[in-house]
Order: sequence, then structure tokens, then C-alpha cells
Amino acid sequence: MIPAVMPTYGRWDVAAERGEGCYLYATDGRKFLDFTSGIAVTSLGHCHPRLIEAVTAQGRRLWHVSNLFQIPGQQRLAERLVANSFADTVFFNNSGAEAVELSIKVARKYQSHVGHPERYRVIGCQGSFHGRSFATLAAAGAEAYLKGFGPVMDGFDHVAFNNLNEMRAAITDHTAAILVEPVQGEGGVRSPSDDYLKGLRAICDEFGLLLVFDEVQSGMGRTGRLFAHQWSEVTPDVMAVAKALGNGFPIGACLATEAAAAGMVAGSHGSTFGGNPMAVAAGNAVLDVMLEPGFFERVERVSRLLRGKLEALVGAYPKLFAETRGSGLLLGIRCHVTAGDFVAKLRAEGLLCLTAGDNVLRILPPLIVGEREIEEASGILDKVAREWPQS
Ligand SMILES: *Cc1c(COP(=O)(O)O)cnc(C)c1O
Repeated sequence: MIPAVMPTYGRWDVAAERGEGCYLYATDGRKFLDFTSGIAVTSLGHCHPRLIEAVTAQGRRLWHVSNLFQIPGQQRLAERLVANSFADTVFFNNSGAEAVELSIKVARKYQSHVGHPERYRVIGCQGSFHGRSFATLAAAGAEAYLKGFGPVMDGFDHVAFNNLNEMRAAITDHTAAILVEPVQGEGGVRSPSDDYLKGLRAICDEFGLLLVFDEVQSGMGRTGRLFAHQWSEVTPDVMAVAKALGNGFPIGACLATEAAAAGMVAGSHGSTFGGNPMAVAAGNAVLDVMLEPGFFERVERVSRLLRGKLEALVGAYPKLFAETRGSGLLLGIRCHVTAGDFVAKLRAEGLLCLTAGDNVLRILPPLIVGEREIEEASGILDKVAREWPQS
């Protein structure tokens, strides 16, 4: 008999009951150190007091109005994202997939607006993940997720990640934009070489294409800057964010420059829930915390500490692990053993981690993680590695 919850996930044997900071408590009383953060969502930890205050206060005032109304909190959140990024304008949606979907729409609309309606194709990278809608699945082009769902939406081409020659060679008269994750998350926590984003920017400028970054996972502080591309000297024309923007309250956003969004006018796009008062109250509270002086310096400091621990672990167990990957607190270890088995063992010892493509153990602590929790996690990692049969 099919379960009442449609069985599209291989779920863990953990029934979450409550959370506090870096810790998650199960209904059976078990306590876990949560280095999944709801897949890069609860970056300020579980039940952050500032978030609770902001969302409960908003909940007593007003939950929802449509986007036919002025929504002061939405205006404020948009202005703050604009002030802290390359962007001039923002549209709020409810998820990462929607934010990427709109980014693709903006890119196509831009080309149409500047007199090139024939430019509608988007070049993406192998190993990408952009969400589960038809367009975002087609954009990533992963066979496993597309199979059985009928014709794949037209308009997407794919090249190897981190390869500028392939990217340049894939451009045709029909290309509208390039869509990449500055750090690939689901695909295996893969960072490109230093000059890759710069090279993409140059290609886009040369051919009149828009550069679109999917920062749904890498954005909102995950790498130690508000957005991962801010480590480079490059800015995109359009960017999708979501995951940590609401610390668990569903909210996504498509950010764009004035030029890129020139074709977006009244009626061009819409959303029933997008940017409603509750969601933007959460988003504003997240920014209140992240934009406080010293927040990102602290993230950098703890991420260096954790990175060092992981590198030591990889060095100590070369039969189990191949290399450390990632940026900031978007970290991974490519494994020789099956990453999923290792993650299951960590879970049994009280540490929650994830996997990613390419047989990677993915580690996404909340950005508020402290030295104590990092010590605790590396103790568990070391114990499981030490007790592993082949170690
Ligand atoms: C998670 C993710 C998405 C999809 O976000 P949803 O909120 O699940 O729709 C898109 N792009 C990237 C890079 C992601 O990590």
C-alpha cells in the first residue's frame, strides 16, 4: 500500500521533534548534531531567537496579502538585497526551483526585449542541480531526474563544468544565457578554478549573453560571503537565491540588474504567496543577523577550523577518503568508501551529514556553529573512520 506521504524520498529513521541551535532532537529522545542544516537552509541554526521573535510578531499582525498590495517588509527586504549585491531589482518566490525558473524567464525576456527573440537557449553545466520543475530539470539535464517524465523541455544545452572552451564552443545564434552554480552543491560540492567565473563573464559580454548564477545553495552566507560569487571579481546579470534566505520559512528570490530585467513589466510574472508578509519577516530577520558586523568574519574563522579538521581526517585515512572540497561551510569529502554508508554510520553516532554526487560526504553546519560543536563533530568523524573495516 502506498504511504500517505508520497514515497519520493528514502527517509532516515529519525522523526524530528524540535531543534535548538546546532542540535536536533528526535521524538524517541535521541539528540543529533545537525550538520545538514535542512540542506543549507537553517543557517542560523534551529529556532534562532531573533527569527522566532520576528515571525511570531508578524504572525500576530498580518500573515498574507496578495502582491496587488504594497508590502512594506517586501520592499525593505528587496532594498537590502539590492544594497548588498550587484542587483537593482528583486522578485520573491517560494522556492529555489521557482527562483531559477524565473531567472531563465528573465534571460529569455531580456533577449526578446533587446530584439533577439530567437535567442532563447540556456547553456548549463553537467553535474548541476537547479530544482525539480520541468524547466529547471531540463536546465540541469540530469538523466536520472528526467526519466519517465515525458519530453524534456526544449531550450537547454550542457557542457562540462569548469571548462571555458566547451562553453564557448556551445554558443550559437540561439543562445540567451549561461546558467551556473558558483559552487556546485548537489553535484558533489565542486568549486571551479579561480578564473572560471571571470571567463564566463567575458564570454557573456562578448556574445551578448546574460550570466545567471544559481546561488540557491551557495548563497546567503554559506561560503563566508553573502553570495559565493563575491569571492571573485565577477557579478552576474541575474541570480537565484532561496534555501537560507528564510532560515526555513519558504522564500526564494530572483535578483537582476536593471538592464537584465528591462523586459519585466506589470503582468510579466506573478506569485500568490511569493514575498508575503510572513516570508519577508523571516528574510529580514535573517539579514538582520547576517549583516551584523563580524558575522562573516566569524563564519570564515570557524570554516577554516572545520576545513583543517577535515583535511587532517582525509590525510589520516587515505584508504577511506580522497580529498576535501568546497568553500566556507559548504564542505565535502570525496570518499573511496560509499559516502551514503559512511553518513549512515555518522548518524548512528549522533552526527547528521549529507551526501552529494560524485560519492561525496557533504557537510553543511549552520553558520552559527561554534568550536565546541566542530570538536564534537570531528571526534565522531574520526571515531567512525577509525572503526571502519578497511581503515
Ligand atoms: C536546492 C537547490 C535548488 C532547488 O531549490 P528548491 O527550493 O528545492 O526548489 C536549486 N538550485 C540549487 C543550486 C539548489 O541547491
